[in-house]
Amino acid sequence: MKGCISDREKRNFHTRGLHKPIAYLNKVIKQDFILVDGICGDLDFEEGGNPVQMNRIFCGTDPVLIDSYIAENIGYRPDEVAYIRIADDIGVGSSDIDHAEIIVLSKDQSIAKPSSSRKVQKLAGYVQAKDACSPCYANLIRALARLDDEGLLCRFKNTPILIGQGYKAMAGSGIGIGQCTSDMHKSVAGCPPSTSIILDFLKNL
Ligand code: SF4
Repeated sequence: MKGCISDREKRNFHTRGLHKPIAYLNKVIKQDFILVDGICGDLDFEEGGNPVQMNRIFCGTDPVLIDSYIAENIGYRPDEVAYIRIADDIGVGSSDIDHAEIIVLSKDQSIAKPSSSRKVQKLAGYVQAKDACSPCYANLIRALARLDDEGLLCRFKNTPILIGQGYKAMAGSGIGIGQCTSDMHKSVAGCPPSTSIILDFLKNL
């Protein structure tokens, strides 16, 4: 929506700390349809450098709900993001994703490709993937990034995290991500499991 305001006003947004202006801009200018390109987003920076291929496109009609859902998809609770909280408070939309109607139109089961980013490769070093689908693998990588932010990732140094269709019906003592690894000693359900569900599962371990 920043394309709808002047350059001077954009600088003003930064002076005012971004969150409140973002929320109020969306109160003033209504959106009817929101399309989010999640084909190959970055791990943590808008200008790129650490791409994580997810092969997903999201669309919706409530900007707060869409941002809440995407926040969850990259491992944050919506109430941790100040502008989402403010936008919900002033009635731009709803951040209640638990009661949202979410329709999955198609599932991408293409196999995740190795990343050339050193940062992503470091996270991938904790993973043993066998034919993992791109959305599943991307959710895991984002969960591992959040664990790393919290200083917890090193706890998985000696316990590889298993993911992918190659683990179907394979029993073992590993930690598994997704329904393909349901025969592992410990695994989290979902196809794919969301980043926040993976994050909670790994934190509990
Ligand atoms: S759990 Fe689903 S999304 Fe994940 S690797 Fe298996 S088939 Fe793909």
